[in-house]
Amino acid sequence: MKTYLPPNFLIDRDQERCIQCQVCVNQCAFGVHYYDAEDDEVRSHEENCVGCHRCMIFCPTHALTIRKHPLDYRENYNWRPEVIKDIIRQAESGGMILTGTGNDKGYRIYWDHMLLNASQVTNPSIDPLREPMELTTYLGRKPDKVEVDGDSHHR
Ligand code: SF4
Ligand code: SF4
Repeated sequence: MKTYLPPNFLIDRDQERCIQCQVCVNQCAFGVHYYDAEDDEVRSHEENCVGCHRCMIFCPTHALTIRKHPLDYRENYNWRPEVIKDIIRQAESGGMILTGTGNDKGYRIYWDHMLLNASQVTNPSIDPLREPMELTTYLGRKPDKVEVDGDSHHR
């Protein structure tokens, strides 16, 4: 699909070092590199690159350098580059923008700040190495009641 988004990464292939082995073609899961048989040269569709650096690591002659695209939008506090790119991406795809492996924004990750301290719930305190402890955490609305059977499975 034709996109008006600039590539996020630039791929430099040092032709002095490249031996046309096509390792990069086989290693990239995003189909970025391809072999141009007519010119006997390996080339790249940079717009598909996600910057994982796999091809760079596997290239036997270190011919590849993956760089962030230096495109500079006009500065604006609200219309930051990521906002502009997200709008273009959403307009072109009509889909929701999802990010894998966690949120890529600088928001606080509340899970990392949760402390479950059960030391004071019984007296004498439960020894977690010998006594079973229930650490189930309920998210969302509070249930009217929680039933626990003999094997600690919730119903
Ligand atoms: S892996 Fe490196 S040497 Fe092989 S074709 Fe790709 S850039 Fe060239
Ligand atoms: S950095 Fe990753 S996505 Fe980009 S061309 Fe190399 S292997 Fe493909």
